[in-house]
Amino acid sequence: MANRTDQLLRSAWTAEPPQLPPHALRWLRQETGLTDSWTPTRAMTAPPSELPEKAHEVLTAIVGAEHVLTDEQSRLGRTGGLSYLDLLAHKGIGDVSVPDAVVLPADPAEVAAVVKACAELGLSIVPFGGGTSVVGGVKAAERSVVLDLARLDRLVLVDEVSRLAVFQAGVRAPDAEKALAEYGLTLGHVPQSFERATIGGFAATRSAGQASSGYGRFEDMVEGVCVATARGEVRFGVAPASAAGPDLRHLMIGSEGAFGVITEVTVRVRPLPTIRRYEGFVVDGWDRGADVVRKLAQDRVLADVTRLSDVDETNMSFALTGGLKAAGLRAYLKARGINEPCMLIVGWEVQDRHELAMRRAATLRRLRGSVRLGRVLGEAWRHGRFNGPRQRDALMNAGVCVETLETATHWSQLNELYAKVRLALTDSLGRAIVMCHISHAYETGASLYFTVIAPRSIDDPAGQWKRAKAAACEAIAGLGTISHHHAVGVDHAPYLPAEIGDLGVEVLAAVKKTLDPSGILNPGKLIAP
Ligand SMILES: Cc1cc2nc3c(=O)[nH]c(=O)nc-3n(C[C@H](O)[C@H](O)[C@H](O)COP(=O)(O)OP(=O)(O)OC[C@H]3O[C@@H](n4cnc5c(N)ncnc54)[C@H](O)[C@@H]3O)c2cc1C
Repeated sequence: MANRTDQLLRSAWTAEPPQLPPHALRWLRQETGLTDSWTPTRAMTAPPSELPEKAHEVLTAIVGAEHVLTDEQSRLGRTGGLSYLDLLAHKGIGDVSVPDAVVLPADPAEVAAVVKACAELGLSIVPFGGGTSVVGGVKAAERSVVLDLARLDRLVLVDEVSRLAVFQAGVRAPDAEKALAEYGLTLGHVPQSFERATIGGFAATRSAGQASSGYGRFEDMVEGVCVATARGEVRFGVAPASAAGPDLRHLMIGSEGAFGVITEVTVRVRPLPTIRRYEGFVVDGWDRGADVVRKLAQDRVLADVTRLSDVDETNMSFALTGGLKAAGLRAYLKARGINEPCMLIVGWEVQDRHELAMRRAATLRRLRGSVRLGRVLGEAWRHGRFNGPRQRDALMNAGVCVETLETATHWSQLNELYAKVRLALTDSLGRAIVMCHISHAYETGASLYFTVIAPRSIDDPAGQWKRAKAAACEAIAGLGTISHHHAVGVDHAPYLPAEIGDLGVEVLAAVKKTLDPSGILNPGKLIAP
């Protein structure tokens, strides 16, 4: 378990070189003007570790010599997360900051001892779960150690009566689901980063899974947390609900390692579904599609997975299925009166046929006027839902600038936010494909998730995306949240004051000062320096 991240190629989702199908590459060239020339890449290298001798001795005494790693491969393996800029850095393009050491504690007691020791030594700590952050959340600070939670990999207990489970923070999502399945239970938290991300990482970032309409966001599942701070351990969450003052669990959920290291998380679990049914529909136009999703949310009949793609994302999905099939589908939709196809995936995860029939009928009543493409499309989406990172690797290898960003707002502002972010991205990137979907809907609003594909700049690949992202963030500020589920990290920290005000940031800084007086916990994340 301890070496699992060493085996991961940080610059790619899988070890096999990913490939784009020829028809997809042809389509991309035609749509974006992509060519075969791009900036040469090279493998990233690490400067020698500057971990002081004394720190090495102290850390070794706590976790054992084999769990304090200063070799190049181990440090590069935990350098940065998985944003486009991180992936570029691993190709030798742009800035990079490599940690001085990787420390792998065995349990919560060792985590607490490492945090205390680092506070005394003045050594910064970057908590590292699956390392899937796309907002600079695991970026190494100067003179820092990465605290990899891979060895905190236990299911601590299951309380079947209360439907609760306690996990150590480093348990990866597939392992958590496997362990729960033995009890006939599930967490139901399935983000696209499912294969790599951890329970602690989900809690630290207020993650949202693809079935959030049914199972809730991760913070809805957290019943309790145990956190090692620089001033000692705190535990919050003793009952399902409480009026004992503000809910301090929520200071820790979303704290991104800046207040402490989450060592254990108590989560609400549910029975495993016995029936999963996913279907695809096509709605005519984004505005109409967004209205359908709003109605489903406000009438409280959302399917567990409800995901609406805009026209560009739908076209991209069709293009990936292949030229002839895509052309046939478009002609069929046109004949059915659909001029601006927007794909809607709905999925139910239920216990019995009766529940499925009731819920499905309620959803379908509100989908009149759309074209049903049936279970083939729904199941194709479900089976391909973890392909995004692999496709991204393939696109990057083909010289593409490819990245995602997300936000959320109230329904009355959703279309304005959609239009402004799209405009900001296309203005900045020129000939680009900007796609969007709604994947998390609420009674009062929804998230918007943008994917951008453009030919990668030859002169300044990193600057090209930094400028586009800044333009999108400026467009979001004042209209929506700077992050619906990716968190703040380093990248979004400058935009947090626009959302919570200077006083809000001061409150966060005061909490940090109390729990982390010497400022060693994940510096620069959440709160801008
Ligand atoms: C391809 C891809 C798809 C994604 N899809 C989704 C999605 O669908 N939904 C979603 O919500 N997110 C998504 N993300 C973002 C990311 O997966 C989430 O932020 C996830 O919650 C991070 O989990 P992790 O274990 O990888 O945490 P890491 O990336 O290791 O860390 C994330 C942040 O939390 C801190 N942290 C990690 N563990 C702890 C701990 N135990 N205690 C304190 N701080 C800690 C880190 O220091 C960092 O600031 C995606 C990312 C990628 C690359």
